[in-house]
Amino acid sequence: MDKNMQNKSAVNDWVVKSPSREYENLTSEVRQNIDEYLAEYPVKLGALANRLGVKVLLSTLPRGTSGQIGQENGEFVIRINRHEAKTRQRFTLAHELAHFLLHKKRIEEVGGWSENVLLRSGQPAEIEYEANRLASDLVIPSGQLEKAASEYSGPITSEVIEDLARKFGVSIAAMEIKLQMT
Ligand SMILES: [Zn+2]
Repeated sequence: MDKNMQNKSAVNDWVVKSPSREYENLTSEVRQNIDEYLAEYPVKLGALANRLGVKVLLSTLPRGTSGQIGQENGEFVIRINRHEAKTRQRFTLAHELAHFLLHKKRIEEVGGWSENVLLRSGQPAEIEYEANRLASDLVIPSGQLEKAASEYSGPITSEVIEDLARKFGVSIAAMEIKLQMT
């Protein structure tokens, strides 16, 4: 097969994105705490939060607010909008846990923040990008997705992506972000 044909046949191939640098840069102590939760899917985010000492509440939040993170009586508390879809709630929780892991000092300084439906909190955009990248690793650990994807033969079709999204408890959009076309 010549080179051009190889390229053509690879058009429908997908690879699982490597873990983010935010994940890679977590201290070994933190990794030890969270990696056991990232060793199965769907990731038990509530149990992970519990391990980290973060309280999670499903709350009635103002319309247009997906989640909140802050300190209450010295305790870190995440509130998730109870009226949003389950997959959405899971990603919001992962995003807030990512803030806790990456931006704890800032949360302590400003007392916390609310996130709109785009998971923007008024904090600098870079902070939100970092949280989204780590959140993606928390809801869809690369190693787990590789394992799950290897159970399908043939190309990764939209049906397969849908199926994978269901298995990980995430939206199709979140799953697509973790898969990269080669
Ligand atoms: Zn955020």
